[in-house]
Amino acid sequence: ESVEVQIEDQEFQLEPDNELRFEVENKNETVVLELKTGLAEIFGTELVKGKSYTFYFGAKIAVFTWQGCSLKLRGKKGISYISKETPMMFYLNCHASLEQLRVKSEKEKTRGPVTMVVGPTDVGKSTLCRILLNYSARMNALGRRPIYVDLDPGQGQISVPGTIGAVMVERPAEVEESFSQAAPLVYHYGHTNMSINSTLYNTLISRMAEVIHQRMDENPRINCSGLIINTCGWVKGKGYQHLTHIALAFEVDVILVLDQERLYNELVRDMPVFVKVVLLPKSGGVVERSNKFRLEGREARIREFFYGTPRNVLHPHTCEVRFSDIKVYRIGAPPIPNTLMPLDMQKTDLETKLEPVTPGPNMMHHVLALSFSTMVEEDVVRTSVAGFVCVTNVDTSRQMLTLLSPQPKPLPETIYLMSDVQFMDNNA
Ligand code: ADP
Repeated sequence: ESVEVQIEDQEFQLEPDNELRFEVENKNETVVLELKTGLAEIFGTELVKGKSYTFYFGAKIAVFTWQGCSLKLRGKKGISYISKETPMMFYLNCHASLEQLRVKSEKEKTRGPVTMVVGPTDVGKSTLCRILLNYSARMNALGRRPIYVDLDPGQGQISVPGTIGAVMVERPAEVEESFSQAAPLVYHYGHTNMSINSTLYNTLISRMAEVIHQRMDENPRINCSGLIINTCGWVKGKGYQHLTHIALAFEVDVILVLDQERLYNELVRDMPVFVKVVLLPKSGGVVERSNKFRLEGREARIREFFYGTPRNVLHPHTCEVRFSDIKVYRIGAPPIPNTLMPLDMQKTDLETKLEPVTPGPNMMHHVLALSFSTMVEEDVVRTSVAGFVCVTNVDTSRQMLTLLSPQPKPLPETIYLMSDVQFMDNNA
């Protein structure tokens, strides 16, 4: 006979500059947080007193207070603890410096600070980006509109894994959610690891920087607010070359290096003098994620794209399309031996080549991106994507594909780009 264990509410008193850290460690656990007195924030978003915030499996949270506060936690089974050591003061100072640069560019009508956050995996890069974006969005009166650029195809925070994306931040993120995503700019890369097709990755980076610079030039408010660029944790060898390519393409002004002195020194050595490179400590609260957790995170991200979150449930459609009615391509041709390579072709051309894919069982479970291009004569590779579907069944005898899709019907003229990324739809 199982006994339902009643977990008691826990109350915490936090001194100024302290934070309460907790994780939701079990699949069916939910933890509810409430601010009782004082002021507190989660990764830069202010909490509303008396409001219940619910967290689900996988959440790793720090509730920080500048002024002191009391908090209540309901449903937390494992440990939660208060830390007095946080790098928040350093992060706030960064925000203040960026804000000074924004004021300056507003006056001089120049581009605002382009900031890139770098460091190895699990040092809090995404969290620092979130804090800096939230802080600038909280200054309503100034009307800041920084753009968040996420260049890590491994997690695909802005849309789904296998992509890179950008979104304008107008208001702080909701506590339990990511930044609201009206009209993100998303590019299909098709892999979760940058090393698989470096040429394509760099091509997309250059294109994205071009498009964002153009948008900044057209809108003074976005222009002076600048960019916050999140990068991936691959910082050695070729990974480092990717970082320098990003810095060059986006014309960064500030590089925030989390935790790694070696990377900091390399960047100081290699960047032009006008680029300000700053070394910042990581928070002791940042939790290391195992490969398994990372995989689960990816899957959760795709599920969220189709099915939404507990707070914002979405109802995707299932539709069937004939093999003959769908145009599917992939980017990057398989390598061919040098002797067979046409004389006018380079290896890098192959890596950004649009290759038709014949529908069949090879597509099972794959994510397909919907290009904004409708004709292969256009520059499909460097065009952004409008959305995604997932292949949930392949019927070779009937020559039909079943797609999971946010839209009820696939558009006939769409060009689909097949991703390496797969998603098993258990809900179907
Ligand atoms: P990175 O982008 O460098 O891989 P993240 O910013 O994603 O790292 O942080 C890793 C995890 O640690 C995230 O789940 C995040 O919510 C959590 N985290 C970050 N800062 C803290 C903190 N101060 N206390 C507890 N958890 C934290």
